[in-house]
Amino acid sequence: MTQNPQQPEVNIGLVGHVDHGKTTLVQALSGSWTDQHSEEMKRGISIRLGYADATFRKTPGEEPPECYTVEETTEDGEDTEVLRTVSFVDAPGHETLMATMLSGAAIMDGAILLVSATEDVPQAQTAEHLMALDIIGIENIVIAQNKVDLVDRERAIDNYEQIKEFVEGTVAEDAPIVPVSAQQEVNLDLLIEAIEEEIPTPERDESEDSQMYVARSFDINRPGTTWEDLSGGVIGGSVVAGKLEADDEIELRPGREVEEEGQTEWRPITTEIRSLQAGGNMVDEVRPGGLCGVGTGLDPSLTKGDALAGQLAGEPGTLPPTREEFTMDVELLDRVVGVDQDDVEEISTGEPLMLTVGTATTVGAVTSARTGEAEVSLKRPVCAAEGAKIAINRRVGARWRLIGIGTLK
Ligand code: GDP
Ligand code: MG
Repeated sequence: MTQNPQQPEVNIGLVGHVDHGKTTLVQALSGSWTDQHSEEMKRGISIRLGYADATFRKTPGEEPPECYTVEETTEDGEDTEVLRTVSFVDAPGHETLMATMLSGAAIMDGAILLVSATEDVPQAQTAEHLMALDIIGIENIVIAQNKVDLVDRERAIDNYEQIKEFVEGTVAEDAPIVPVSAQQEVNLDLLIEAIEEEIPTPERDESEDSQMYVARSFDINRPGTTWEDLSGGVIGGSVVAGKLEADDEIELRPGREVEEEGQTEWRPITTEIRSLQAGGNMVDEVRPGGLCGVGTGLDPSLTKGDALAGQLAGEPGTLPPTREEFTMDVELLDRVVGVDQDDVEEISTGEPLMLTVGTATTVGAVTSARTGEAEVSLKRPVCAAEGAKIAINRRVGARWRLIGIGTLK
């Protein structure tokens, strides 16, 4: 991984249809390939969220947009000026993986919507992902019209018009459309310029209680490591408020499921921060923006295989409540996203719904449904504050489809 000179300060999502070039673009801008898991390599798709940091720079003495680059030095060996370090959240485009995309959207400050110039617009996940951005309220969007190296001028213009028409009336209506080739690294300077203008770093308040969305969790020990050499569990995700510092105590909620005398309940976990990683470096503190890794004192069996993904971490005693059931206001979409003709029917009592709350995805059974409101009982609890946005998915045929947005009451 390339070293970045500063911590990332903003999270930028990569969204769009499978094979339109999200992972290739992240690679071109950051020098790292986000499809790191062997299963993903085999299947050639991003199953889990991948992330990679990149530093945008400026060539001294050059005018925009040519001055924008990710190179540390110019061709003449002169150092470039650091603008800012950003973190890319690479969402999977495969259609069964909408839940992962939605949970990634919870930590995105803005997004790049990739649209391939070689296909008609919109492809299924182009539409679905744009809808998700709209629902979750991500307004800072840049559209990258990718693979322009594969089409002639006429086709590129035609495709551009299709994109324009497609985004009309959506949150991306005014988003700049930048023609690029991620693979041939064409127009990346223009793309960086658009990102710098459209996706500013949000203002943050360091003095707030710290809160981190956990998106991943790992056991970093090799099989057969003896107990003296075991490293504690690692969690990865994004700080969204306050800041985390090495040696701080943190609480994780919902925590873990404990069984006692035939009863199960979820108990928060408390541990200490042993190490912090951000932007590819070991650091003493992490502020909002970017993705970070937190080495903890937890038994690694608690963190392995993303077991803690979807949880919240923060200063003990300050996190929102753990909810095994809740009531939400419901706003249904007019149509099921990704399916052309289906109107969305009202939610009915007893039906199962897949709910994405923050970075958590859980299945809930509807215990009571009224127009504009539903009560759900969850298989796996979530930690969430009143007012939290919830993506509501219904089983349609063989997969879950986004049907509406909830607000936690
Ligand atoms: P993702 O599913 O959106 O992450 O797409 P990938 O980044 O995995 O790209 C899918 C395929 O398209 C790969 O074979 C890439 O090499 C290819 N590709 C991506 N961007 C470009 C481009 O700008 N030009 C060309 N010719 N191929 C591209
Ligand atoms: Mg990919």
